[in-house]
Amino acid sequence: MDRIYLSPPHLGRHELNYLHKAIEDNWVAPVGPNLDGFEADICAAVGVPYCVALTSGTAALHLGLLLLGVGPGDEVLCPSFTFVASANAITYCGATPVFVDSEAETWNLCPQRLREAIEDRLRLGKKPKALLLVHLYGMPARLTEILALAQEFDLPVLEDAAEALGSQWQHQPLGGFGRVGVFSFNGNKILTTSGGGALVTYDRALAERARFLATQAKDPAPYYQHSQVGYNYRLSNLLAGIGRGQMELLPDRVKRRREIFNWYKEHLAGLPGLAVAPATELPGSLSNRWLTTVLLNPAELQDGASQTTATPETVRQHLETRRIESRPLWKPLHLQPLFSSAPMYGGAVCEDLFARGLCLPSGTAMGDEELHRVAKALREALS
Ligand SMILES: *Cc1c(COP(=O)(O)O)cnc(C)c1O
Repeated sequence: MDRIYLSPPHLGRHELNYLHKAIEDNWVAPVGPNLDGFEADICAAVGVPYCVALTSGTAALHLGLLLLGVGPGDEVLCPSFTFVASANAITYCGATPVFVDSEAETWNLCPQRLREAIEDRLRLGKKPKALLLVHLYGMPARLTEILALAQEFDLPVLEDAAEALGSQWQHQPLGGFGRVGVFSFNGNKILTTSGGGALVTYDRALAERARFLATQAKDPAPYYQHSQVGYNYRLSNLLAGIGRGQMELLPDRVKRRREIFNWYKEHLAGLPGLAVAPATELPGSLSNRWLTTVLLNPAELQDGASQTTATPETVRQHLETRRIESRPLWKPLHLQPLFSSAPMYGGAVCEDLFARGLCLPSGTAMGDEELHRVAKALREALS
């Protein structure tokens, strides 16, 4: 029996053509037509005028924070419930993350907790330098309330849309709602360049500065002159070729991830103590359903409906015996040894999600046979 992975790369038929052409034409450095094409494809998909393709989403977050002026001693607001890369980028700048809890409907930043956090930091005389928001598992955060807070308190927004390429808020693609937006093309994401990332913005000067910083910050001079610290963050033209082939598939991939989510929702309905979640999209918002996630014994199943004694870990281990990969939800960052001294506002919501949640195989190459295998293994694990 083949192993079923959580979210493996899924290549199409055109990636090789772009790679082939790049090698034939000797465009194998981090410059060339595939980079231009990949950036144009992302601009078109996201509806923003500027894009800079980079070596990873993490590199894009790092540059994005630098573009917003984040530096040593600053504080940056950030959800606790996210992948560590979001907060690591803050640390790279010499700044400190100030963590904020999630709300139960989208699992993203809770606007109420966010207000508390901002007001408390102001009381302490520490105005946050920026707000980093995340759309976890592709689900749009409550942007209306969050962006209103950012405006009220004059906080520049960095939108970590690493997991949310193809998702929408008020029928607009995510990634373009902050001063800077970030995507990841890591191997597990909805589209991949094997490893890669992108930074998008409406601000031409910011895009130019991102390019400058990503290519070693060379001053305009015939020799190598540098007056600022630079980075080597530019994506290879080869990998950008894979990206061009992948970008052609974005609508298909979103459609398939959503089908997989709905398939699980339908076929797992009635399993004791298990709910596919987050169940609802807010009006006008669309999740790319990057990963289908489930909760065990969530509040809505706790009265009347049957419970399960299974835990995410017993379920994960059972699926593993059936050669099926699953993963716990992101462990909240305020619980990580790495960030044990960072401020945290709230915490009960994301701690509860972490205690109850599991990510199911969601790769777009999966067929019905594999989906049935996962459902069967889940049924066994819960019975
Ligand atoms: C994957 C991911 C990143 C990092 O992207 P890489 O390309 O792997 O560096 C950042 N933030 C979130 C929320 C992610 O899921």
